Amino acid sequence: MFVYADNAATTSVSKAALDAMLPYLTEYYGNPSSLYAFGQKAAEALQEARETVAKCINAEPREIYFTSGGSEADNQAIISAAKLGARKGKKHLISTQFEHHAVLHTLAKLEKEGYEVTLLDPHSDGVIRVEDVAAAIRPDTALVTIMFANNEIGTVQPIAEIGALCREKGIPFHTDAVQAAGHMPIDVKAMNIDMLSMSGHKFHAPKGVGVLYARRGMVLTNIIEGGAQERGKRAGTENVAGIVAMAVALKESCEHMEENTAKIIPMRDKLFAELSKIPHSKINGSLEHHVPGTVNMCFEGIEGESLLLLLDDAGICASSGSACTSGSLDPSHVLLSIGLPHEVAHGSLRLSIGEYNTMEQIDHIIETVPKVVSYLRGMSPVWDELQKGERPHLI
Ligand SMILES: *Cc1c(COP(=O)(O)O)cnc(C)c1O
Repeated sequence: MFVYADNAATTSVSKAALDAMLPYLTEYYGNPSSLYAFGQKAAEALQEARETVAKCINAEPREIYFTSGGSEADNQAIISAAKLGARKGKKHLISTQFEHHAVLHTLAKLEKEGYEVTLLDPHSDGVIRVEDVAAAIRPDTALVTIMFANNEIGTVQPIAEIGALCREKGIPFHTDAVQAAGHMPIDVKAMNIDMLSMSGHKFHAPKGVGVLYARRGMVLTNIIEGGAQERGKRAGTENVAGIVAMAVALKESCEHMEENTAKIIPMRDKLFAELSKIPHSKINGSLEHHVPGTVNMCFEGIEGESLLLLLDDAGICASSGSACTSGSLDPSHVLLSIGLPHEVAHGSLRLSIGEYNTMEQIDHIIETVPKVVSYLRGMSPVWDELQKGERPHLI
Protein backbone atom coordinates (compact mmCIF):
# COMPACT_ATOMS: atom_id res chain seq x y z
CA MET A 1 0.00 0.00 0.00
CA PHE A 2 1.25 3.49 -0.83
CA VAL A 3 0.40 6.16 1.73
CA TYR A 4 1.27 9.80 1.18
CA ALA A 5 1.29 11.32 4.65
CA ASP A 6 3.46 14.38 4.08
CA ASN A 7 0.89 16.99 3.08
CA ALA A 8 2.55 19.66 5.20
CA ALA A 9 5.57 19.36 2.87
CA THR A 10 3.55 19.51 -0.33
CA THR A 11 0.29 18.25 -1.80
CA SER A 12 -0.84 16.76 -5.09
CA VAL A 13 -2.49 19.10 -7.62
CA SER A 14 -6.29 18.73 -7.56
CA LYS A 15 -8.09 17.71 -10.72
CA ALA A 16 -10.03 20.99 -10.83
CA ALA A 17 -6.81 23.01 -10.49
CA LEU A 18 -5.07 20.99 -13.20
CA ASP A 19 -8.03 21.29 -15.59
CA ALA A 20 -8.21 25.03 -15.01
CA MET A 21 -4.52 25.65 -15.65
CA LEU A 22 -3.95 23.55 -18.78
CA PRO A 23 -5.57 25.93 -21.31
CA TYR A 24 -3.21 28.69 -20.10
CA LEU A 25 -0.21 26.56 -21.06
CA THR A 26 -1.51 25.48 -24.45
CA GLU A 27 -4.23 27.74 -25.83
CA TYR A 28 -4.07 31.08 -24.03
CA TYR A 29 -0.33 31.37 -23.57
CA GLY A 30 -0.16 35.09 -24.37
CA ASN A 31 1.76 37.47 -22.13
CA PRO A 32 -0.76 39.27 -19.91
CA SER A 33 1.19 42.52 -20.33
CA SER A 34 0.76 42.54 -24.12
CA LEU A 35 -1.73 44.80 -25.84
CA TYR A 36 -3.39 42.39 -28.27
CA ALA A 37 -6.63 40.69 -27.33
CA PHE A 38 -4.92 37.28 -27.12
CA GLY A 39 -2.77 38.46 -24.18
CA GLN A 40 -5.80 40.07 -22.62
CA LYS A 41 -7.33 36.64 -22.15
CA ALA A 42 -4.43 35.84 -19.78
CA ALA A 43 -4.74 39.25 -18.11
CA GLU A 44 -8.41 38.60 -17.46
CA ALA A 45 -7.61 35.21 -15.96
CA LEU A 46 -5.14 36.90 -13.59
CA GLN A 47 -7.74 39.43 -12.55
CA GLU A 48 -10.28 36.72 -11.93
CA ALA A 49 -7.76 34.72 -9.88
CA ARG A 50 -6.96 37.84 -7.85
CA GLU A 51 -10.64 38.34 -7.09
CA THR A 52 -11.09 34.68 -6.12
CA VAL A 53 -8.08 34.64 -3.80
CA ALA A 54 -9.11 37.96 -2.22
CA LYS A 55 -12.60 36.67 -1.53
CA CYS A 56 -11.28 33.53 0.20
CA ILE A 57 -9.52 35.61 2.88
CA ASN A 58 -11.89 38.64 2.90
CA ALA A 59 -9.35 40.97 1.24
CA GLU A 60 -9.65 43.35 -1.74
CA PRO A 61 -8.30 42.15 -5.12
CA ARG A 62 -5.74 44.98 -5.19
CA GLU A 63 -4.34 43.77 -1.88
CA ILE A 64 -3.27 40.46 -3.47
CA TYR A 65 0.26 40.16 -4.90
CA PHE A 66 1.21 36.93 -6.66
CA THR A 67 4.66 35.58 -5.80
CA SER A 68 6.73 32.48 -6.49
CA GLY A 69 5.61 30.90 -3.23
CA GLY A 70 5.49 31.17 0.52
CA SER A 71 9.19 31.86 0.97
CA GLU A 72 9.17 34.87 -1.33
CA ALA A 73 6.00 36.25 0.30
CA ASP A 74 7.61 35.92 3.76
CA ASN A 75 10.80 37.62 2.57
CA GLN A 76 8.94 40.51 0.96
CA ALA A 77 6.56 41.08 3.88
CA ILE A 78 9.34 41.18 6.47
CA ILE A 79 11.78 43.25 4.42
CA SER A 80 9.01 45.72 3.52
CA ALA A 81 8.00 46.30 7.15
CA ALA A 82 11.65 46.51 8.22
CA LYS A 83 12.50 49.16 5.61
CA LEU A 84 9.35 51.09 6.41
CA GLY A 85 10.17 51.03 10.11
CA ALA A 86 13.78 52.09 9.57
CA ARG A 87 12.58 55.26 7.82
CA LYS A 88 10.86 56.18 11.09
CA GLY A 89 13.83 55.12 13.22
CA LYS A 90 12.14 51.85 14.23
CA LYS A 91 14.42 48.84 13.93
CA HIS A 92 12.98 46.25 16.30
CA LEU A 93 11.31 43.12 14.94
CA ILE A 94 9.26 40.57 16.90
CA SER A 95 8.79 36.97 15.84
CA THR A 96 8.96 33.48 17.32
CA GLN A 97 11.59 30.80 17.74
CA PHE A 98 9.63 28.24 15.75
CA GLU A 99 8.95 30.08 12.49
CA HIS A 100 9.74 28.60 9.09
CA HIS A 101 13.29 29.31 7.93
CA ALA A 102 11.93 31.67 5.26
CA VAL A 103 11.08 33.95 8.19
CA LEU A 104 13.98 33.13 10.53
CA HIS A 105 16.70 33.51 7.89
CA THR A 106 15.22 36.80 6.65
CA LEU A 107 15.23 38.09 10.23
CA ALA A 108 18.83 36.90 10.70
CA LYS A 109 19.85 38.81 7.58
CA LEU A 110 18.19 41.97 8.89
CA GLU A 111 19.87 41.48 12.26
CA LYS A 112 23.25 41.64 10.47
CA GLU A 113 22.07 44.90 8.90
CA GLY A 114 21.54 46.44 12.34
CA TYR A 115 17.97 45.48 13.24
CA GLU A 116 17.18 44.01 16.64
CA VAL A 117 15.13 40.82 16.70
CA THR A 118 13.13 39.36 19.59
CA LEU A 119 12.12 35.72 19.13
CA LEU A 120 9.29 34.66 21.43
CA ASP A 121 9.22 31.28 23.16
CA PRO A 122 6.32 29.08 22.01
CA HIS A 123 6.08 27.37 25.46
CA SER A 124 5.93 23.60 25.80
CA ASP A 125 2.52 23.39 24.08
CA GLY A 126 3.71 25.23 20.94
CA VAL A 127 1.33 28.16 21.42
CA ILE A 128 2.52 31.76 21.55
CA ARG A 129 0.98 33.81 24.38
CA VAL A 130 -0.54 37.19 23.52
CA GLU A 131 0.85 38.54 26.82
CA ASP A 132 4.36 37.63 25.66
CA VAL A 133 3.81 39.57 22.42
CA ALA A 134 2.50 42.56 24.41
CA ALA A 135 5.50 42.45 26.74
CA ALA A 136 7.95 42.37 23.82
CA ILE A 137 6.50 45.42 22.05
CA ARG A 138 8.67 48.54 22.30
CA PRO A 139 8.30 52.09 20.99
CA ASP A 140 10.71 51.18 18.17
CA THR A 141 8.98 47.92 17.12
CA ALA A 142 8.57 47.92 13.34
CA LEU A 143 6.91 44.52 12.84
CA VAL A 144 5.33 41.55 14.54
CA THR A 145 5.52 38.39 12.39
CA ILE A 146 4.00 35.22 13.84
CA MET A 147 2.98 32.14 11.92
CA PHE A 148 -0.68 31.14 11.73
CA ALA A 149 -0.04 27.41 12.14
CA ASN A 150 3.27 25.69 12.70
CA ASN A 151 4.41 23.45 9.86
CA GLU A 152 6.01 20.78 12.04
CA ILE A 153 3.75 20.39 15.06
CA GLY A 154 0.53 21.87 13.64
CA THR A 155 -0.22 24.22 16.52
CA VAL A 156 -2.41 27.24 15.74
CA GLN A 157 -1.56 30.64 17.16
CA PRO A 158 -4.00 33.22 18.61
CA ILE A 159 -3.80 35.28 15.43
CA ALA A 160 -6.93 37.40 15.94
CA GLU A 161 -5.80 38.42 19.45
CA ILE A 162 -2.28 39.24 18.27
CA GLY A 163 -3.77 41.16 15.32
CA ALA A 164 -5.99 43.21 17.63
CA LEU A 165 -3.04 44.01 19.89
CA CYS A 166 -0.82 45.09 16.99
CA ARG A 167 -3.56 47.21 15.44
CA GLU A 168 -4.13 48.94 18.80
CA LYS A 169 -0.40 49.67 19.07
CA GLY A 170 -0.12 50.72 15.41
CA ILE A 171 2.45 48.02 14.58
CA PRO A 172 2.32 46.15 11.25
CA PHE A 173 1.40 42.48 11.74
CA HIS A 174 2.43 39.76 9.28
CA THR A 175 1.49 36.11 9.50
CA ASP A 176 2.96 33.18 7.58
CA ALA A 177 -0.34 31.40 6.90
CA VAL A 178 1.13 28.78 4.55
CA GLN A 179 -0.08 25.88 6.74
CA ALA A 180 -3.46 27.46 7.43
CA ALA A 181 -4.61 28.72 4.03
CA GLY A 182 -7.16 26.36 2.55
CA HIS A 183 -7.28 24.36 5.78
CA MET A 184 -8.70 26.85 8.29
CA PRO A 185 -10.93 29.93 7.95
CA ILE A 186 -8.94 33.16 7.46
CA ASP A 187 -10.45 36.65 7.56
CA VAL A 188 -7.75 39.30 7.26
CA LYS A 189 -10.12 42.10 8.21
CA ALA A 190 -11.66 40.47 11.28
CA MET A 191 -8.23 39.22 12.39
CA ASN A 192 -6.51 42.59 11.83
CA ILE A 193 -3.82 41.06 9.64
CA ASP A 194 -1.74 43.59 7.67
CA MET A 195 0.27 41.09 5.62
CA LEU A 196 -0.14 37.36 5.06
CA SER A 197 1.76 34.69 3.13
CA MET A 198 0.29 31.69 1.33
CA SER A 199 1.73 28.96 -0.86
CA GLY A 200 -0.25 27.16 -3.56
CA HIS A 201 1.42 23.78 -3.23
CA LYS A 202 0.23 23.36 0.35
CA PHE A 203 -3.41 23.33 -0.79
CA HIS A 204 -3.41 21.30 -4.01
CA ALA A 205 -2.05 23.89 -6.48
CA PRO A 206 1.33 23.48 -8.22
CA LYS A 207 4.65 24.38 -6.64
CA GLY A 208 6.26 27.74 -7.37
CA VAL A 209 3.28 30.01 -6.88
CA GLY A 210 2.09 31.89 -3.81
CA VAL A 211 0.44 35.01 -2.50
CA LEU A 212 1.44 37.98 -0.43
CA TYR A 213 -1.61 39.80 0.91
CA ALA A 214 -0.71 43.35 1.90
CA ARG A 215 -3.41 45.59 3.33
CA ARG A 216 -4.08 48.82 1.44
CA GLY A 217 -1.63 51.42 2.69
CA MET A 218 1.17 48.93 3.46
CA VAL A 219 4.20 50.09 1.48
CA LEU A 220 5.95 47.13 -0.14
CA THR A 221 9.65 46.97 -0.99
CA ASN A 222 10.52 45.05 -4.15
CA ILE A 223 12.49 41.85 -3.75
CA ILE A 224 12.56 41.33 -7.52
CA GLU A 225 13.20 44.36 -9.72
CA GLY A 226 12.23 44.68 -13.36
CA GLY A 227 8.87 45.07 -15.05
CA ALA A 228 5.78 46.69 -13.60
CA GLN A 229 3.82 43.52 -12.86
CA GLU A 230 1.83 43.21 -9.62
CA ARG A 231 1.27 46.97 -9.28
CA GLY A 232 5.02 47.49 -9.70
CA LYS A 233 5.83 45.48 -6.56
CA ARG A 234 6.90 42.15 -8.04
CA ALA A 235 8.59 42.08 -11.41
CA GLY A 236 8.52 39.12 -13.78
CA THR A 237 6.02 37.73 -16.27
CA GLU A 238 3.25 36.19 -14.23
CA ASN A 239 2.96 32.42 -13.83
CA VAL A 240 -0.53 32.64 -15.32
CA ALA A 241 -1.30 28.91 -15.37
CA GLY A 242 0.02 28.44 -11.83
CA ILE A 243 -1.93 31.43 -10.55
CA VAL A 244 -5.15 30.23 -12.19
CA ALA A 245 -4.65 26.79 -10.63
CA MET A 246 -3.90 28.30 -7.23
CA ALA A 247 -7.10 30.37 -7.22
CA VAL A 248 -9.17 27.34 -8.20
CA ALA A 249 -7.48 25.14 -5.58
CA LEU A 250 -7.91 27.73 -2.84
CA LYS A 251 -11.59 28.25 -3.68
CA GLU A 252 -12.10 24.49 -3.78
CA SER A 253 -10.35 24.01 -0.41
CA CYS A 254 -12.31 26.83 1.20
CA GLU A 255 -15.65 25.64 -0.16
CA HIS A 256 -15.03 22.09 1.07
CA MET A 257 -13.25 23.06 4.28
CA GLU A 258 -15.92 21.79 6.67
CA GLU A 259 -16.34 18.42 4.99
CA ASN A 260 -12.58 17.99 4.55
CA THR A 261 -12.00 18.79 8.22
CA ALA A 262 -14.76 16.38 9.22
CA LYS A 263 -13.02 13.67 7.20
CA ILE A 264 -9.47 14.41 8.37
CA ILE A 265 -10.00 14.84 12.12
CA PRO A 266 -11.16 11.26 12.86
CA MET A 267 -8.13 9.93 10.92
CA ARG A 268 -5.77 12.22 12.80
CA ASP A 269 -7.33 11.37 16.16
CA LYS A 270 -7.03 7.66 15.45
CA LEU A 271 -3.33 8.12 14.67
CA PHE A 272 -2.80 10.01 17.92
CA ALA A 273 -4.79 7.49 19.95
CA GLU A 274 -3.14 4.38 18.53
CA LEU A 275 0.43 5.62 18.20
CA SER A 276 0.45 6.99 21.75
CA LYS A 277 0.03 3.42 22.94
CA ILE A 278 3.69 2.91 21.99
CA PRO A 279 5.60 3.06 25.31
CA HIS A 280 7.80 6.10 25.87
CA SER A 281 6.19 8.12 23.11
CA LYS A 282 5.05 11.72 23.25
CA ILE A 283 2.64 13.88 21.28
CA ASN A 284 4.16 17.24 20.36
CA GLY A 285 2.11 20.43 20.42
CA SER A 286 -1.22 21.37 21.97
CA LEU A 287 -4.11 19.28 20.66
CA GLU A 288 -6.56 22.01 21.58
CA HIS A 289 -5.07 24.55 19.17
CA HIS A 290 -4.29 22.41 16.15
CA VAL A 291 -4.66 22.29 12.36
CA PRO A 292 -6.75 19.33 11.20
CA GLY A 293 -4.11 17.12 9.57
CA THR A 294 -0.77 17.27 11.37
CA VAL A 295 0.47 14.62 13.79
CA ASN A 296 3.88 15.05 15.40
CA MET A 297 5.22 12.54 17.88
CA CYS A 298 8.53 11.47 19.43
CA PHE A 299 9.59 7.93 20.21
CA GLU A 300 12.38 7.55 22.70
CA GLY A 301 15.52 5.61 21.87
CA ILE A 302 15.33 5.78 18.08
CA GLU A 303 16.49 8.05 15.27
CA GLY A 304 13.77 9.74 13.23
CA GLU A 305 15.79 9.29 10.03
CA SER A 306 15.93 5.49 10.38
CA LEU A 307 12.23 5.43 11.15
CA LEU A 308 11.51 7.34 7.93
CA LEU A 309 13.59 4.99 5.80
CA LEU A 310 11.80 1.91 7.15
CA LEU A 311 8.41 3.57 6.74
CA ASP A 312 9.39 4.34 3.15
CA ASP A 313 10.03 0.60 2.65
CA ALA A 314 6.47 0.02 3.87
CA GLY A 315 5.16 2.55 1.32
CA ILE A 316 4.60 5.37 3.81
CA CYS A 317 5.85 8.88 3.03
CA ALA A 318 6.35 10.84 6.23
CA SER A 319 8.78 13.38 7.59
CA SER A 320 10.82 13.96 10.71
CA GLY A 321 10.28 17.67 10.75
CA SER A 322 10.51 20.07 7.89
CA ALA A 323 11.83 19.13 4.46
CA CYS A 324 14.22 22.04 4.78
CA THR A 325 16.15 20.62 7.74
CA SER A 326 16.17 17.03 6.62
CA GLY A 327 19.52 16.07 5.25
CA SER A 328 21.13 17.72 8.24
CA LEU A 329 21.63 15.85 11.48
CA ASP A 330 20.56 18.75 13.68
CA PRO A 331 17.30 18.15 15.47
CA SER A 332 14.39 20.34 14.50
CA HIS A 333 14.54 23.91 15.80
CA VAL A 334 10.78 23.69 16.33
CA LEU A 335 11.02 20.69 18.67
CA LEU A 336 13.91 22.29 20.57
CA SER A 337 11.89 25.52 20.90
CA ILE A 338 9.10 23.66 22.73
CA GLY A 339 11.68 22.38 25.18
CA LEU A 340 12.39 18.86 23.98
CA PRO A 341 15.87 17.57 24.83
CA HIS A 342 18.08 16.84 21.79
CA GLU A 343 17.90 13.07 22.31
CA VAL A 344 14.10 13.13 22.28
CA ALA A 345 13.81 15.57 19.37
CA HIS A 346 15.93 13.19 17.27
CA GLY A 347 13.25 10.52 17.46
CA SER A 348 10.48 12.56 15.89
CA LEU A 349 7.90 11.67 13.27
CA ARG A 350 5.54 14.02 11.42
CA LEU A 351 2.57 12.54 9.62
CA SER A 352 0.49 15.14 7.82
CA ILE A 353 -2.71 13.87 6.29
CA GLY A 354 -5.26 15.40 3.99
CA GLU A 355 -8.69 14.79 2.53
CA TYR A 356 -7.24 12.43 -0.08
CA ASN A 357 -6.13 9.95 2.59
CA THR A 358 -8.35 7.04 3.61
CA MET A 359 -8.98 5.20 6.88
CA GLU A 360 -7.39 2.07 5.32
CA GLN A 361 -4.19 4.06 4.85
CA ILE A 362 -4.36 5.25 8.45
CA ASP A 363 -4.72 1.62 9.55
CA HIS A 364 -1.63 0.72 7.53
CA ILE A 365 0.32 3.44 9.35
CA ILE A 366 -1.02 2.26 12.71
CA GLU A 367 0.05 -1.29 11.96
CA THR A 368 3.49 -0.34 10.65
CA VAL A 369 4.82 2.34 13.01
CA PRO A 370 4.78 0.26 16.25
CA LYS A 371 6.56 -2.62 14.49
CA VAL A 372 9.23 -0.34 13.06
CA VAL A 373 9.72 1.44 16.39
CA SER A 374 10.25 -1.86 18.24
CA TYR A 375 12.57 -3.12 15.53
CA LEU A 376 14.71 0.02 15.76
CA ARG A 377 14.66 -0.03 19.55
CA GLY A 378 15.90 -3.61 19.39
CA MET A 379 19.04 -2.42 17.63
CA SER A 380 19.49 0.82 19.56
CA PRO A 381 22.31 1.06 22.12
CA VAL A 382 20.49 4.03 23.65
CA TRP A 383 17.32 1.98 24.13
CA ASP A 384 19.42 -0.79 25.68
CA GLU A 385 20.83 1.66 28.22
CA LEU A 386 17.36 3.00 28.93
CA GLN A 387 16.11 -0.55 29.53
CA LYS A 388 18.97 -1.38 31.87
CA GLY A 389 18.39 1.83 33.81
CA GLU A 390 21.82 3.14 32.81
CA ARG A 391 20.21 6.34 31.60
CA PRO A 392 16.93 7.93 32.68
CA HIS A 393 13.83 7.92 30.48
CA LEU A 394 13.05 11.46 29.30
CA ILE A 395 9.55 10.62 28.07
C1 LIG B 1 6.10 25.39 2.99
C2 LIG B 1 6.19 26.56 3.90
C3 LIG B 1 6.81 27.75 3.49
C4 LIG B 1 7.51 27.87 2.16
O1 LIG B 1 6.63 27.92 1.08
P1 LIG B 1 7.24 27.68 -0.40
O2 LIG B 1 6.07 27.96 -1.29
O3 LIG B 1 7.65 26.26 -0.44
O4 LIG B 1 8.33 28.65 -0.58
C5 LIG B 1 6.81 28.81 4.36
N1 LIG B 1 6.23 28.74 5.56
C6 LIG B 1 5.63 27.61 6.00
C7 LIG B 1 5.00 27.60 7.34
C8 LIG B 1 5.59 26.49 5.18
O5 LIG B 1 5.01 25.38 5.63
